[in-house]
Amino acid sequence: MDTIFDVLIIGAGSIGIPTALLCVESGLNVGVIDKNHSAGQGDNKAAIGGIRATHAEPAKIVLGKDSLNFFQNWEKIYGSSIGWKKGGYLYPIFEKQHEEILKKNLITQHQFNLNINWVSADEIRDIIPQIEEQNLIGGTWSPDDGSASPIMTSQALYLEGLKNGVKYFFNENIISIEKVNDVFFVKSDSQSIFKAKWIINAGGTGISQIAKFFNTEITLVPDSHEAGITEPVKPFLKPMIVDIRKDIGSSNYYFYQNYEGQIEFCITPDPPIIGENRDSTSQFLPMVAKRMIKLMPTLSVLRVRRTWRGIYPNSLDGSPIIGFDSNIENVIHAGAMCGQGYMFGPAVAILIVKMIKNRLEEKDNFVLKRLSLNRDFLSHETLK
Ligand SMILES: Cc1cc2nc3c(=O)[nH]c(=O)nc-3n(C[C@H](O)[C@H](O)[C@H](O)COP(=O)(O)OP(=O)(O)OC[C@H]3O[C@@H](n4cnc5c(N)ncnc54)[C@H](O)[C@@H]3O)c2cc1C
Repeated sequence: MDTIFDVLIIGAGSIGIPTALLCVESGLNVGVIDKNHSAGQGDNKAAIGGIRATHAEPAKIVLGKDSLNFFQNWEKIYGSSIGWKKGGYLYPIFEKQHEEILKKNLITQHQFNLNINWVSADEIRDIIPQIEEQNLIGGTWSPDDGSASPIMTSQALYLEGLKNGVKYFFNENIISIEKVNDVFFVKSDSQSIFKAKWIINAGGTGISQIAKFFNTEITLVPDSHEAGITEPVKPFLKPMIVDIRKDIGSSNYYFYQNYEGQIEFCITPDPPIIGENRDSTSQFLPMVAKRMIKLMPTLSVLRVRRTWRGIYPNSLDGSPIIGFDSNIENVIHAGAMCGQGYMFGPAVAILIVKMIKNRLEEKDNFVLKRLSLNRDFLSHETLK
């Protein structure tokens, strides 16, 4: 191929697709390569669609705010639906130790002006009348958070990218990258050669393998997570509910009613199931359904349509890794998004455009420092 792209993105996923769109909108000539057959076929389509700014790690809060802004304005600006719903996030709390953790997080969250507060058990019952009341102490409520459909989002952003001139290349697995006179030569298993001035490594669970082409180490600890979706019913549930109590075989679980009326749900296995196994299990549904129905007995009438399993591409400390490669110029790595890559995609895209165009602001440098490839990875966000 003769074209020398300004930017070649490896990975058409939660990070790569928005990055391609925002790069092309900023005037860059953009190519995207993916080993899969179409856009969003990695872990993007495994996400259930939760989007929030209310994290505990400050860098994630900054990214979350930018992303929320992008998701909630998408339809107004671009005209297509991504299934956005501003339903908020609610963490109902039943144990004193969890109240303390959440109240500690509120201090940081308020420093970043997030709309999140502690609410009483009665206030929670006003928001979710169907909740099981036993031992409910109160919880946190963030009405500005929301959800959208990861599949509709990747399609909408992909089509918008194409319209603006992004070139996508599918079924291309990268096997080597070389740099000659400021131009990267990226070779795929079909013997295609792509040329570019910048490389963005947005390879999801493949990020470490791609980083090796530049002799750069990125350590991932991927683990398997299952999710499911019910038939649609009339709207009755406003927020995403996150129950952080532990039970046998699981730590937290979370669920919400999407814009079409379906309940989408996930559970976090405890201990984690390390690895990249994407086969659904017969344990997941009984385990998560039991917990959900105990919290909200009314859910027992719903029929589950399907379940699936995907991977959280975890870093060692549970926060994303975003930064310039220190071994070679004009390479950016953006991954290790853990359980939040869908929601961070647009914010990471905004940041990457600024990195390429040398327009980083103070808040961007703050994020890049905290999410650097070279940090010590010793900190652990509570409730990541
Ligand atoms: C059950 C479940 C529920 C989740 N729920 C949420 C949620 O509610 N909200 C949220 O924000 N996140 C959620 N997530 C997490 C989210 O799905 C991931 O964090 C996110 O998809 C990671 O984005 P990514 O772009 O890094 O990777 P991906 O979306 O996987 O994209 C990476 C792409 O790179 C391609 N690739 C890799 N290596 C190569 C190579 N060598 N050559 C060519 N192409 C390559 C892959 O084919 C893939 O398409 C959930 C995950 C799971 C499993």
